[in-house]
Amino acid sequence: MQDWIPLGYLLSAALFIFGLKKLGHPRTAPLGNQYGALGMLVAVITTIIDMQLASGDMNWTLIIAGLALGSLIGIIMAVRVEMTGMPELVALFNGFGGAASALVALSETWGYIQNSTTAPTDELTIAVIMIAAGLSALVGWMTLTGSILAMFKLKGGISVFGKWIKTPTWGPTWLNPVKILLTLSVFVLIGMSINDPGNENYLWGIIAISCILGLVLVLPIGGADMPVVVSLLNSLSGIAAAFTGFIIGNSVLIVAGSLVGASGLILTFIMCKAMNRTLPDVLFKSFGGTVSKDTVTRTKVGSDADEVAMMVDGAQKVIIVPGYGMAVSQCQHQVKEFGDLLEEKFGTEVKYAIHPVAGRMPGHMNVLLAEANVPYEQLIEMDEINPEFPDCDVAVVIGANDTTNPAARSGEGPLAGMPIIDADAARTVVIIKRSLSVGYAGVDNDLFYMDKTMMLFGDGKAMMTGLNNAIKEI
Ligand code: NDP
Repeated sequence: MQDWIPLGYLLSAALFIFGLKKLGHPRTAPLGNQYGALGMLVAVITTIIDMQLASGDMNWTLIIAGLALGSLIGIIMAVRVEMTGMPELVALFNGFGGAASALVALSETWGYIQNSTTAPTDELTIAVIMIAAGLSALVGWMTLTGSILAMFKLKGGISVFGKWIKTPTWGPTWLNPVKILLTLSVFVLIGMSINDPGNENYLWGIIAISCILGLVLVLPIGGADMPVVVSLLNSLSGIAAAFTGFIIGNSVLIVAGSLVGASGLILTFIMCKAMNRTLPDVLFKSFGGTVSKDTVTRTKVGSDADEVAMMVDGAQKVIIVPGYGMAVSQCQHQVKEFGDLLEEKFGTEVKYAIHPVAGRMPGHMNVLLAEANVPYEQLIEMDEINPEFPDCDVAVVIGANDTTNPAARSGEGPLAGMPIIDADAARTVVIIKRSLSVGYAGVDNDLFYMDKTMMLFGDGKAMMTGLNNAIKEI
C-alpha cells in the first residue's frame, strides 16, 4: 500500500498542472477548475492514507469533522458570494492559505525541537529546519494579516475605520524604513533561533513581527494597485505552503505551493505590465484616491435612451467597453442583447474591449460576458482593440471609469502610466453610469466632459434595458 502513496501525490500534482494549463483560456477554465478540485481531493485522501499507514492511530472523528466543516463553509461561501465580492473572497482565501501553512510548520517545528528524543543534533539539520520554519512563519503570517487588510480595503473598509483603512494617507517616507527594519529583525531572529533552537520566544517574535509587517505593507497601498497586491499575496501563500512542504517532507505540498507561488508571481508581473508600474513602485510608493465624490465640480447634461438609440442606428462599428459598474448592476445579459440587436437590426460590427484590470479581479469582465454567452471571438484584449478605435463610430462604455481615463496618459496622479482603453479615440462615446463620480483610483475623468461624449445617467441594468427597448422600437 505504501508504494501507492507517491503515485497518489504524483496524480494530484499532475491534475494541478493540467488544471493550470486549462485555466489559461476562458473556454477551458471551468474544466481547469474541476481538475484543480479533483487534484486537491486526491491529495487529501492520499495524505490521510499516508498518515494512517505511518501512525496506525488516527483520530478519525476529528478528521471527518474537520473535512465536513471545511466543506460546508466552502459550499456556503461559494453559493452566497456575489460576483462583485470575488476579489475579497480570494484575498481571504489567500490569507487562510498562508496561515494554514504557517500553523502546520509551527506545530511540526515545535514538536520536533521540543521533543528531546527526536530533536535533531547535527547543526546543519537544525539550521535548515529553523530557516524553513522562520521563512514559513514570515511569509504565512504576513500573508494572513496583509490579506485580511486587503479584503477590508477592497470592501471599502469596516464601518468605524472605513475611511482610514481605505484611503492610503500614510506616506511611504517613514513607512519604508519601518518595513525594512521589520524585515531585517525577522532575519536576525531566525539567525538567533538557529543558535538556540529550544527557545520558543524567537518563533513568537517572528510571528508577531510578520503580522505587523503584513499590515504595514498593505496599509499604504490603494487605488489601481490593489489587484497587484492581492495577486502577490496569492503568490506568497503558495510560497509559504512550499516552505512547509520542506519542513514536513510532503512532496505534493512543495509542488502545489511552488505552482501557486510561480503562477501568482507571473500574474503579478502581467498586471504590473498592464498598469505600466514596477513591483517596487506598487509596494513602496504611496498611491490612491485623491479626489473624493464631493470634489467633482464639473457638470454635464445627460442624454436619454431614444437619443442614443437613434445615434447607434447609423453606426457601422460599435465597441462595447465594460467595467466594474457592469458587474455591480449585473447587466451583462442586457449588454449581450444590445450587441445582438445592433448586429441583427442594423448589421453593425460589434466588439468588446477588455482591459486587463477592468472590474475588481483579473478576468472579471471575461467571466461575466462568458456567462451571458458573448462569443469569445468578440472579446478583444486592450492592446489588440486600441488601434481599432479611430475607425469606430460609437464606443459604448458601461460602468468603466479608470480603465478609460485619459488622465492615465499624463505623467502625474494615481493612474499615471496605466495603459487605458482608447475609447476617447472613437467618433462618439456613450457612457452609462449613475453620476459623474470618480472610479476606484479616485481620479476625475475628462472623457465624461468631451463634446463627443453622451452621458446616460442611471443604473447599468435599467439604462441598458431602456436602450434595448428604444432600439427595438426603431
Ligand atoms: P472603476 O472602478 O474605475 O469605475 C466603475 C464605475 O462604475 C464607477 O465610476 C461607478 O460610477 C460605476 N458604477 C457603479 N455602480 C454602477 C451601477 N450600478 N450602474 C452603472 N454604473 C455603476 O471601474 P473600471 O472597471 O474602469 O476600473 C477598475 C478599477 O478597479 C481600476 O482602477 C483597477 O485598477 C481597480 N481594481 C481592479 C481589480 C482587478 O483585478 N480587475 C481589483 C481591484 C481594483 P457611478 O457611481 O457614477 O455609477
